[in-house]
Amino acid sequence: MKVFFDTIGCRLNQAEIERYAAQFTALGHEIVPDAESADIAVVNTCSVTAAAASDSRGKVRSAAKGGAQVVVTGCWSSMEPREAAAMEGVSQVILNAEKDELTAAVLGLGKTDFDTEPLKRVTLPGVHARTRAFIKIQDGCDNHCTFCVTRLVRGKARSVAKARVLHDVQSAISAGGKEIVLTGVNLGAWGLDLGEELADLIEFLLKETDIPRIRLSSLESWNLSDRFLRLWEDPRMCPHFHLPLQSGSDSVLKRMARRTTLGEFRRLAETALSVNPAFAITTDVIAGFPGETDEEHAQTLAFVDSLPFAGGHIFPYSPRPGTAAARMKDQVPKAIQKERAKQLRDLFEQKTFVFETSFIGSVRKVLWESTQQLPDGQWETHGLSENYLTVKTIFPTPVRNRIDSVRISERQDGKLIGIVIPDFREGG
Ligand code: SF4
Repeated sequence: MKVFFDTIGCRLNQAEIERYAAQFTALGHEIVPDAESADIAVVNTCSVTAAAASDSRGKVRSAAKGGAQVVVTGCWSSMEPREAAAMEGVSQVILNAEKDELTAAVLGLGKTDFDTEPLKRVTLPGVHARTRAFIKIQDGCDNHCTFCVTRLVRGKARSVAKARVLHDVQSAISAGGKEIVLTGVNLGAWGLDLGEELADLIEFLLKETDIPRIRLSSLESWNLSDRFLRLWEDPRMCPHFHLPLQSGSDSVLKRMARRTTLGEFRRLAETALSVNPAFAITTDVIAGFPGETDEEHAQTLAFVDSLPFAGGHIFPYSPRPGTAAARMKDQVPKAIQKERAKQLRDLFEQKTFVFETSFIGSVRKVLWESTQQLPDGQWETHGLSENYLTVKTIFPTPVRNRIDSVRISERQDGKLIGIVIPDFREGG
């Protein structure tokens, strides 16, 4: 059978479809790059914002257009299962609570144990192709952030056991993987249900494997022990944190029921920079949370400006059904949200410019991810440095999934340009 996978939203969704693809392949099915050539299309949806929910419906519609039977899973379809089931072409809706057994459910295999068998990682064709392997190590969340619908649809926090994570990392390595990205809804909560902590898992992976790079996806700034940051003394740990700030005002953070303060956030960011000054710290900010005053918005701008962020995603607040924030009075008018979001985006654009240009002249390790041929026959190639800089270079032949030492020469049209330095040795 030919199977197409599509996903939207977080890296956890990406990690999940990579796992399904490995399972379907192990069972003899073929993964195809588009819905038109597929018998079954699996769409992993998202509901983090109203726009993500609407894009999820769009993906289901376009998968159905190709004539495939569509299986819908993920956060949006778990929130609105009836609406998802009623969409044209949808043959099955798999709720988040059952999504770990999606492959068995789609193939009608009932409870099987193939999930515990060694699986070879497969690279997904088409837009979801990655050189980096996204590995799910955790799901669910026990926090109560008042804007968050994810915790409602993903359930309680649970960790993937060390042995299974090791196994997934080893299969990524045997498929040629150079970088793994550990993902979860609340990554820092890994191990709390097992009497362990995230630092234990990372130490274990560093010791038991020779994976060249380990990166963490989005991470909340709490639950992290002092020992955690010392792991970055190992050069295989990518100096990049995505730490969702959500607001730069302590009073808003309180209304959001975030388990952190600005002081704690700053301490973590500054400690990371003291371990490695090249650390990239990226973040998410919500503009126009209910009750956010002009003064609180100004505090957010000032806080963002006070740290050397490498970048940020701005989300104008959108009320999600079933959340406490959606019921709060003082919803901020859309026009004000839009204006605040614009001011934040402009600020982050400046921060990104300052961060990126500070690396001009320096040498970074770049993993080449995508390449395309130019009219003159050369290959324009993009890659990612260990500290999350996107770098472009030109090769005479296609290069992908290789790590090179690259000197950053300039920034052109918003992109860093690099020159490969063969046989570069640090300090040499
Ligand atoms: S930490 Fe907060 S924002 Fe993140 S998943 Fe949990 S409840 Fe949602």
